[in-house]
Amino acid sequence: MSRDAVTIVGGGPVGLAGALELARFGVPSVVLEQHDSTSWHPKTRNFNTRTMEIARGWGRLVYQRLRAVDTPPGWKSPIRFFDTVVGTQFGQIETQGFEGPGPGVSPALPVMSSQELIEAILRDAADVTGMVDLRFGHQVTEVVSGWRESDAEATVQVQVVNTGEAYNLSGAALVAADGVDSLVRGQLGVALEGEQGINYFVNCYFRSDIESYVGDRTGVLLFVANPGAAGVLQPLDARGRWLCQIAVQPDQWRREAWDADRVQQWVRGAVGVPNLEVEVRSVGLWRMNVTVAERLVAGRVVLCGDAAHQFPPTGGLGVNTGLQGMHNAMWKLALCVQGVANWSLLETYNAERRAPALRTARQSLENHRNVGRIAAAAYNPSGSDMETSEVIRESHRYGNHLGVEFGTRYESSAVIPDGSEPPGVEDTYSDYAPCATPGCRAPHVWLGNDTEQVSTLDLFGAGFTVLTGPDGDVWHQVACEASRTLHTPVACYTIGAPGLADYRNVFFDQYGITDDGAVLVRPDGYVAWRSTTGNSDGASLFGAVEQILGLRH
Ligand SMILES: Cc1cc2nc3c(=O)[nH]c(=O)nc-3n(C[C@H](O)[C@H](O)[C@H](O)COP(=O)(O)OP(=O)(O)OC[C@H]3O[C@@H](n4cnc5c(N)ncnc54)[C@H](O)[C@@H]3O)c2cc1C
Repeated sequence: MSRDAVTIVGGGPVGLAGALELARFGVPSVVLEQHDSTSWHPKTRNFNTRTMEIARGWGRLVYQRLRAVDTPPGWKSPIRFFDTVVGTQFGQIETQGFEGPGPGVSPALPVMSSQELIEAILRDAADVTGMVDLRFGHQVTEVVSGWRESDAEATVQVQVVNTGEAYNLSGAALVAADGVDSLVRGQLGVALEGEQGINYFVNCYFRSDIESYVGDRTGVLLFVANPGAAGVLQPLDARGRWLCQIAVQPDQWRREAWDADRVQQWVRGAVGVPNLEVEVRSVGLWRMNVTVAERLVAGRVVLCGDAAHQFPPTGGLGVNTGLQGMHNAMWKLALCVQGVANWSLLETYNAERRAPALRTARQSLENHRNVGRIAAAAYNPSGSDMETSEVIRESHRYGNHLGVEFGTRYESSAVIPDGSEPPGVEDTYSDYAPCATPGCRAPHVWLGNDTEQVSTLDLFGAGFTVLTGPDGDVWHQVACEASRTLHTPVACYTIGAPGLADYRNVFFDQYGITDDGAVLVRPDGYVAWRSTTGNSDGASLFGAVEQILGLRH
């Protein structure tokens, strides 16, 4: 692999997806993963709708394979609170976020599955690109260079786990996707902002026929609390594969403390069926942190995924925020290593993604606290300051995060404001109103006709995209000129051209332009610039691309 390749430390979901994104831009990568395979333990379950929009970019096959491991309908909502699964239900929260907003908002559907299945699909996908050198059993032991402004490459020291052999690997940049205890983050001296070790979880993967006891009280998360078991049961496929998360004291946070017998007793207590058969498959340990790294970029090194931030699981946004941040960073990194953009573009990853990470961290913690309050109100009403129903009402944001998924607005030098504001919504965390204000996700609109459609999102490839109306010829010329002179693809599409008819009459309204206006969309599907009419001259579009690339200020 050449020195133009990017080194990725960590072959978890974010590292593998980062390699897929780089490949989309024609950038080769080397993925170094200390374990000898992808994960064997389910860990997290949820690829949300925005993440699945990103997955569509990796090809139809990848998207369809991910969809194929989705849990059946009925198991994505609600979140239920019981004493035992067969006992009393104290309340429930309807969770639209896990079911997805539907085809009016996105062409993609979310996936509720398990991480080991998802990682295996991503690994296959990375393999077939022919651009990813996947090295399992290779552990990074030191970061030698890459974080200083003066560094012209990024070098790491690697040890082959089986043989002890050591070698240095140099690349054009370094992606730290090495998880919660990130060696790269530690060696760069990047501090974590927030709290660590808020809770300690034992996470057990097992087979059991819990479904027959659930009956019609299916749900995405079944919280239980009784003297024998307090935690949450998570269905993995509605066919007998389950995960449970047990909150324990730090002195019980050891695999040895949780042998198959103890796990079985816990599950029986949680379900409320003393002789339930439980076949324990694996036990994992997980510490709950609420932290965001103080910076996400240092020279040619970017922190992504759990290396950049960690949230409580209560929200299902951990891996999704990691993947969406990775998506924000990789096109920028690709353009920098290809010499098309100035490295200042990469800094905008920090400017654009730290704020959403901090916000998600805060809300996930609030959800976690609410779960505790629901349990307190339900099981010890006299000791609680609120009624169960009241706390549940207050917890409506848990699992309802469309605003975070789709409504995040970026502000940085990679966005040129046009003075407009996104439409107001009741709750910016849970609610989303489509708009093409610069800095926002370009809305999904179906184009075509009643039988054959494409989404506007399908037009956004590995480059910039201009969308205009029937009177927008001038923008086509500027896009060609920008592609040629700035050495990066700038595609231009006329909405209304064959195959791109605005057959539902929503495009111009949602994108806020007239027939001669134009919108410039970045490779990550976010609006960078907009001219609502043809009154702006072509130079403003050309200048916008130059500014994003860091070629002028
Ligand atoms: C037991 C467990 C249960 C979890 N349950 C949930 C849950 O219920 N809900 C939820 O939202 N999240 C959960 N998580 C968190 C979720 O799995 C992470 O958010 C997600 O995996 C982050 O992806 P990542 O690629 O950033 O990091 P990881 O998946 O952690 O991947 C990092 C990879 O880097 C590798 N690595 C680390 N250091 C090096 C090195 N020096 N050299 C080479 N390779 C290295 C690791 O082996 C690992 O494969 C859980 C995590 C664990 C461990």
